[in-house]
Amino acid sequence: MSVGTVIVGAGQAGFQAAASLREFGYQDPITLVGDEGLLPYQRPPLSKAYLLGELSDERLLLRPPAFYESRHINLILDDPVVAIDRAAARVRLASGAALPFDHLVLALGARHRRLAIEGATLDGVLYLRTRNDCDAIRARLEAAQQVIVVGAGFIGLEIAAVAGKLGKRIHILEALPRVMSRAVTAPLSEFYARVHREWGAELLLGARLQRIDGVDGRVVGARLADGRRLAADLVLVGVGITPDVGLAADAGLAVADGILVDRQLRTSDPRISAIGDCAAFPDPATGKIVRLESVQNATDQGRSVARRIAGHPEDYAAVPWFWSDQRDLKLQMVGLTANSERTVLRGDPATRSFSVFCFRNNKLVGIESVNRAADHMFGRRLLAAGETISPQEAADGDFDFKARLARLPPPRRE
Ligand SMILES: Cc1cc2nc3c(=O)[nH]c(=O)nc-3n(C[C@H](O)[C@H](O)[C@H](O)COP(=O)(O)OP(=O)(O)OC[C@H]3O[C@@H](n4cnc5c(N)ncnc54)[C@H](O)[C@@H]3O)c2cc1C
Repeated sequence: MSVGTVIVGAGQAGFQAAASLREFGYQDPITLVGDEGLLPYQRPPLSKAYLLGELSDERLLLRPPAFYESRHINLILDDPVVAIDRAAARVRLASGAALPFDHLVLALGARHRRLAIEGATLDGVLYLRTRNDCDAIRARLEAAQQVIVVGAGFIGLEIAAVAGKLGKRIHILEALPRVMSRAVTAPLSEFYARVHREWGAELLLGARLQRIDGVDGRVVGARLADGRRLAADLVLVGVGITPDVGLAADAGLAVADGILVDRQLRTSDPRISAIGDCAAFPDPATGKIVRLESVQNATDQGRSVARRIAGHPEDYAAVPWFWSDQRDLKLQMVGLTANSERTVLRGDPATRSFSVFCFRNNKLVGIESVNRAADHMFGRRLLAAGETISPQEAADGDFDFKARLARLPPPRRE
């Protein structure tokens, strides 16, 4: 008798795998195991509308409770998986219970990287990954006057944008010479650095945080390596995440910076798959092993693995895309642009509506757009079709995007 599929991690990817299994006609039992004690919810609003207090708990949920009942998806939401017994094909939960599986899907996400400096454990040093983290930050933000944001990645800058909007005095500290440098090109970094300064934040690049100062166990400020001191009653840290690979490594699965999977998202044990933030997979465009942290990646990998388990195997082939909202700026990115060799600007950063087209070997590898959704959608369709435009075409203000799209083959099934 079939014992079905166990999905570990009730986040974006785990939710999608469960929902898509039923959508693709899978009839066997499905169990979704989480450890946050909450129904699957969206994380992006935690650094945007939910942090601002503009989104309710219900609207944060990916689906209401009835969704899981109607699709016979068993939920275990507060009993983490603590071990995988591959020989017996079952997982063990913290409570001691065991769940057998035919297929196991690891959708474990990631944990925030913690500061390892003096003062890092003071009251008032907070991180953002979960709804509980966000509730704690919201509660503290209300009374705070001065906030230090450590790390100018997407999450750090989104938090800074919200806290600034709430009238707080903001210091943003970034150790590297430019903001969001892991993921975007230099023109985008320069634009966002300028805008955050215009919004009133003090942005310090190349800034090394040496220690966090406290009085009676509570944060009162911070000291930089160059001797500068900053006053603050809250330190919000966004210095990146590390994938959750412990469970997989303990079970003898291959891991690196993520749980290693093949083109069909199978780990080194073909009955076990890994998806979302925790999975390191071969990039369909280059074959290089990558690990992505985005809703698109979690959702498309959830769908892809569900399709295979339901009997329709396919290689994972989605084009990566991402967004970040900071006040009135909608950044949308398609493709992987960090390794591009040449960039072409369309539009004008001064109008806050422009795109950076990114090329490698004269081939379009991605587009970064600010308030220019049409360019983003153009890139998604073009890259999904495996096509390109030349840097000259991108630079030509009269280039007809619509006509170029009209010549593409019909879009792939989503
Ligand atoms: C504040 C914030 C803002 C973001 N904004 C954006 C955005 O604007 N755009 C975008 O594309 N992406 C954004 N992201 C990233 C996006 O939310 C993640 O890439 C996505 O949630 C990854 O989904 P996942 O299922 O892989 O991991 P997660 O959503 O993290 O889910 C993993 C779940 O597994 C649980 N788990 C771990 N170990 C176990 C265990 N042993 N047993 C049971 N459960 C376990 C975890 O607690 C967690 O609930 C944001 C993320 C954050 C934190």
